[in-house]
Amino acid sequence: MELGLAGRVAVITGGSTGIGLAVGRGLAAEGVRVVLAARDGDRSRREAEAITEECSVEALGVAVDVTVPADIDALADIVDERFGGADILVNNAGTGTNETIMEAPDEKWQHYWDLHVMAAVRLSRALVPGMRRRGGGVILNNASICATQPLGHEPIYNVTKAALVMLSKNLANELIGDGIRVNVVNPGLVMTAGWIEPARAEAGEAWEAYLEGVAREKAPIGRFATPEEMADFFVFLCSDRAAYCVGSTYYVDGGWLGVVT
Ligand code: NDP
Repeated sequence: MELGLAGRVAVITGGSTGIGLAVGRGLAAEGVRVVLAARDGDRSRREAEAITEECSVEALGVAVDVTVPADIDALADIVDERFGGADILVNNAGTGTNETIMEAPDEKWQHYWDLHVMAAVRLSRALVPGMRRRGGGVILNNASICATQPLGHEPIYNVTKAALVMLSKNLANELIGDGIRVNVVNPGLVMTAGWIEPARAEAGEAWEAYLEGVAREKAPIGRFATPEEMADFFVFLCSDRAAYCVGSTYYVDGGWLGVVT
């Protein structure tokens, strides 16, 4: 399938590892120039160099904390100067939480609101003018199945990811007139550090068996997705082949969602 992505420019937050890096690599394999943004600039730059070597496309790693508005402005300036704007924005940076509503302080709520919601608002505001100049674009937000089917230990994650889904719908309505398509993906279990590190802390050497148990318990498919399986779907949604996909929420969860939405 010809995706028509070659030559485009994509900004991927949380692009230095996990799902974000897999999306960056997947887009680069289609000839997209990619900007990987994460707090650890060295890791972002290393991965960007590896992408350039592997895919022969321009790739840039940038140190950005997406909860800091000044960092977002600086990223937009870099993208404008280097590429004259972006065609694709993937709001992917995020992480799970662990708390009770009764005990979590306001500051924690604010941090995750900034990370999962305001980062997408601010990055959209910063990059949409460039997309308009370039004749259209794609914004793809990475929320979670937890936006609909909450996990008990992480209410702040569940609530802020649900807000990201609603933001996506509203932004889609606001921007489709400019030829900018906004959608959101709700992944289920994806094998990344966000699962592996806590599993190691919980089960030590037996972390893989522990995670196999998690997958058997939760996902009818009985296993985790690889980041690359998730990325294939993101790359499709970023492409012209998904031209009629607007304002939708897509579950990629191995059957985990227990209701019909
Ligand atoms: P990882 O923990 O593997 O990677 C997270 C990425 O986000 C890293 O690049 C990290 O880099 C970056 N990041 C974290 N905080 C910030 C910040 N403040 N500013 C900029 N970058 C940041 O995560 P996953 O790949 O597992 O998850 C990616 C997204 O997918 C998240 O939004 C997550 O909620 C969602 N998701 C994941 C699922 C899973 O099972 N793995 C399931 C459902 C949704 P650095 O630390 O250098 O900043």
